[in-house]
Amino acid sequence: MRHPMFTPSLERLGTHDKGTEMKTTALPPATPVTSGLPDQQRKLVTPIPGPRSRVLHEQRAAALPPGLSNVVPVFVERAGGGIIVDVDGNHLVDLASGIAVTSVGASAPEVVTRVQEQVAKFTHTCFLVTEYQGYVDVATWLNEHAPVPGEATTALFSTGAEAVENAVKIARAATSRPAVIVFDNAYHGRSLFTLAMTAKDRPYKDGFGPFDAHVHRAPYAQQLRWPGDPAQATPDALAELQSLLNRVGPETVAAIVIEPVQGEGGFIVPAPGFLRGVQSIARQHGIVLVADEVQAGIARTGRLFASEHDGLEPDLVVTAKALGGGLPLAAVTGRADIMAAARVGGLGGTYAGNPVACAAALGVFEIIERDGLVERAAAIEQHVIAALQPVIEASGVVAELRGHGAMMAIELVRPGTLEPDPEAAVRIARACHKRGVLLLVCGTFGNVIRLLPPLVIDGALLDDGLQVLADAIWDET
Ligand SMILES: *Cc1c(COP(=O)(O)O)cnc(C)c1O
Repeated sequence: MRHPMFTPSLERLGTHDKGTEMKTTALPPATPVTSGLPDQQRKLVTPIPGPRSRVLHEQRAAALPPGLSNVVPVFVERAGGGIIVDVDGNHLVDLASGIAVTSVGASAPEVVTRVQEQVAKFTHTCFLVTEYQGYVDVATWLNEHAPVPGEATTALFSTGAEAVENAVKIARAATSRPAVIVFDNAYHGRSLFTLAMTAKDRPYKDGFGPFDAHVHRAPYAQQLRWPGDPAQATPDALAELQSLLNRVGPETVAAIVIEPVQGEGGFIVPAPGFLRGVQSIARQHGIVLVADEVQAGIARTGRLFASEHDGLEPDLVVTAKALGGGLPLAAVTGRADIMAAARVGGLGGTYAGNPVACAAALGVFEIIERDGLVERAAAIEQHVIAALQPVIEASGVVAELRGHGAMMAIELVRPGTLEPDPEAAVRIARACHKRGVLLLVCGTFGNVIRLLPPLVIDGALLDDGLQVLADAIWDET
């Protein structure tokens, strides 16, 4: 059913400006040249999945182990801007960006050209063997832009989990301490050490233990689900962190690793002051503070780095997903003195900082700066709030619309309660998939629908996707 309170016209959309007062803004148009795929419109020519995708999905089922899951059984032919074209010719609206990766679109010309030029020159040398400029240029850009206090240096890696592990290695080398503190709902990756840091057992950890015993977990100050007075979430959570440190012994703790906005855990924005409180506790005890910005970093939240929202100045910042514009690239950027603690030869990897991925990252930086994608992410937030707030208020099935920038989510609950409703989230996601809108579910309880559109998405296309989502929410009432 079409939700009657939603008016898809860009001109007529109002926005809540964090208050109740409504004002009208329009999403600035995406620079067409960054889309890489001219036809930016949803178009369904078969059911989803279509016949060709079904055949390929059967082959996949025979060739791959079931441990590799899949959100939508659709095979992709090409993609760009806010559109994914499948092998049956359907044009799907991309509100996932391959999990916050293709922020500049999946075929941005600036990325494609740089990658093509680099791949024709050389594909690999291993930076530890012979060097190339792209690596240094990516590191220099990150050093200049990361919210790290003082002089920064950067080491490159291939995946988020690998970079998080290296941040822990560096923190251990810098402090000669073993322990690591992480938080409830945290997601830091699927490698064996980052699994110990990740909170959720199913599907991530189940059956893969035992895990490193030096990882300890503290509460994350989430106001919505805080067991006591939500206004006390920050002081309460900080008191619990301090009490955990007292039990573990602060002199044994190398690092506190925190997501400034939690990703897989449900796009949770911490209560005001929490991040800075964690920072001052870390500083007090000589603990290295690591911000895991693998999902939230590189313009996604309306700031270049999500740490900036709460004035956080971490010692080390980890980036990955959006960094390589779709090519595998990750980074640890941190205080030069701490980064220098890892001995010569202690960091690196065969593929770490691959030249083709570095070329892609330089294209990403160019687009972000030239097309104002940080500001565009902030405009997408206002747009999403304006579009979804009316249906959310009318429906009664959403506890909260939250997030920053183009990292927004809704949490589904049973009406009138805070009881998580993961079935509703899955029903809504499936309804959207069937109508050609690709979005993802997340959250510790699996009841959160997250929106991660490419930052270059066309305004009318975003509206179209949000209308489909609004309809699906309305169908839950
Ligand atoms: C995705 C993610 C990781 C892991 O990155 P991979 O590239 O999948 O290894 C780590 N931390 C956060 C916050 C993430 O969202």
